[in-house]
Amino acid sequence: MSTFQGDERIEALHAQILERNPGEREFHQAVGEVLETLAPVLRQRPEFVEARLIERICEPERQIIFRVPWTDDAGDIHVNRGFRVEFNSALGPYKGGLRFHPTVNLGIVKFLGFEQIFKNALTGLSIGGGKGGSDFDPKGRSDAEVMRFCQSFMTELYRHLGEHTDVPAGDIGVGGREIGYLFGQYRRITNRYEAGVLTGKGTAWGGSQVRTEATGYGVVLFTAEMLRARGRSLEGLRVAVSGSGNVALYAIEKAQQLGATVVTCSDSGGYVVDEKGIDLDLLKQIKEIERGRVADYAERRGGDARYVTTGGVWDVPCDVALPCATQNELTGEDAATLVRNGVIAVAEGANMPTTPEGVRVLQEAGVAFGPGKAANAGGVATSALEMQQNAARESWSFSRTETRLAEVMRDIHDACVQTAERYGRPGDYVVGANIAGFERVAEAMLAQGVI
Ligand code: NAP
Repeated sequence: MSTFQGDERIEALHAQILERNPGEREFHQAVGEVLETLAPVLRQRPEFVEARLIERICEPERQIIFRVPWTDDAGDIHVNRGFRVEFNSALGPYKGGLRFHPTVNLGIVKFLGFEQIFKNALTGLSIGGGKGGSDFDPKGRSDAEVMRFCQSFMTELYRHLGEHTDVPAGDIGVGGREIGYLFGQYRRITNRYEAGVLTGKGTAWGGSQVRTEATGYGVVLFTAEMLRARGRSLEGLRVAVSGSGNVALYAIEKAQQLGATVVTCSDSGGYVVDEKGIDLDLLKQIKEIERGRVADYAERRGGDARYVTTGGVWDVPCDVALPCATQNELTGEDAATLVRNGVIAVAEGANMPTTPEGVRVLQEAGVAFGPGKAANAGGVATSALEMQQNAARESWSFSRTETRLAEVMRDIHDACVQTAERYGRPGDYVVGANIAGFERVAEAMLAQGVI
């Protein structure tokens, strides 16, 4: 882990956190990335140190781990593990997605929950941070199997949720279908139509317009703001996107709407290069409706589209790179390749997709780098708008909701810029995002006493 700008107190704290949470690699990385930017704040605000805010913010308020038994279509019984880490509620109910993926473990849920605290604070809305999920793999499972899994998962989780307590949403492997099954089971068990208990619902039953699009749209709106600050726009630029899930699809859509040509997408099997620009209707048909693979896209698209299984998506020359798949998918080496190929901006659609070395390489090369806490906050911000609409029993139009999303992304961008400048690091969105998010949570925790 890199040095903490010579602040021994933070280094000691970091060592203590690593020791108290053994084996949680991704959590260690996420904590390290935040702590290394906070030294100047703690020097200016000794009361934060005295109140032991770092120690408290790095310790989840509550961690729930539970058994999820379910039966497959052949009658065989499976046992998965469910998680919900309720990290921080100083600013509002715990808010953050559920991830269903075979790699999910406590360390991954804690890294995601920890990041979520600062991201949610940055939105300026009243939401705390949390995250959850399971090591269940929905890939290849029938709708009936996914439903039985979701019902079993919610049969334990429901007692920890509530519109004023904890409000999950989707993440990897959890989209509209899963949220539907989860909401149905919550409603059945509690006998309450508590719309605000989950976000990402269908628009016919309490969901918000733009929630499906929000994370991907937000990433591109944030990128456009970073470019604007440098006197540029997305018009005519070549964009590389990784992933082909919810975030990737709508990042591609918004980038195309703003005049860019998106030439790649990927999944865990390989990536597609489509020099003419991704045919989004075809990609959506394959991914959202048929639940297929990007290899199918290349085959059906024909022409210049190629499916590649060697190397990685960041080998493809581009002006803008948007990692939208998963953590640590853009390494130092990938960053060096991007820089060599002339990249001018990178914004994280996924959570922590760039390794610390990757971030360093990009920043040292002067690339505009938007960290996930800021760049992908559009999804959770729109979730908060969904909660607002549910509480008021209102339903906003697409354009009204999208306008609010654009305002939130602009505000987050400006808060990052202003905070980075205030701390003598102009143009450093990592410092800006971490400090702006931390300050808001820290003030609330300080005011609310030692809890
Ligand atoms: P998704 O719809 O399930 O899509 C995930 C995509 O990433 C798929 O293309 C998947 O490919 C790929 N992927 C996942 N794990 C991978 C791995 N280990 N190696 C290579 N590719 C992998 O999920 P999503 O909602 O778009 O989420 C993508 C990222 O955005 C995650 O980091 C998530 O935490 C973050 N995020 C999501 C939201 C949101 O609102 N959904 C908000 C903020 C941040 P396969 O199909 O082959 O697995």
